[in-house]
Amino acid sequence: MVNRVGVLALQGNYNQHKRMLNVLGITNVLVQYPQELENCDLLIIPGGESTAISKQIERNNFRQPIINFAKSNSIFGTCAGMILISSSVKETNLKPLSLMDFEVNRNAFGRQIDSFSGNLLLEFDDLDSFKGFFIRAPKVSQLGNGIEILATYKKQPVMISNGRHFATTFHPEIGGDCRIHEHIMGKINE
Ligand code: GLN
Repeated sequence: MVNRVGVLALQGNYNQHKRMLNVLGITNVLVQYPQELENCDLLIIPGGESTAISKQIERNNFRQPIINFAKSNSIFGTCAGMILISSSVKETNLKPLSLMDFEVNRNAFGRQIDSFSGNLLLEFDDLDSFKGFFIRAPKVSQLGNGIEILATYKKQPVMISNGRHFATTFHPEIGGDCRIHEHIMGKINE
């Protein structure tokens, strides 16, 4: 049951996740220190700059607390947040948390100027597509066992889950469509 959602607020687009949770009436807190994870059932790691967030995770001694938290709670990583919860990135200047069994390529669509929006197919709502915003987005390069694809863009996976944790290559907190956040809350509550 989701009673309280933490939004990791070290760098990136945390305020827009908070705004969306407020719209949904979900109690939430911005998390800047490990002890603030207490009493949360879900932690959102926002998009931003994965190298910057990774450095701050190390500096604020967040690494082990997030790994421990993830053993009995859920994590939702968007864009840079997805890169951080992956198992491998072909880069040495950031340290993924290896919370889900998949690999990504960073900045796989090009530079900032190549950012775009596109209509995604949602596995959990086939009546209506979802406008996804891809901002210097990563691409999934490898999916491990037990990973379910929840949304695709041009047949490529853009939202995945292992049952407990969730990740999107796009920014579901941008725009007014709350379906991604709602779906995740529903799944955790099941
Ligand atoms: N390109 C960024 C990174 O690699 C991710 C961009 C984003 O989160 N919108 O960290």
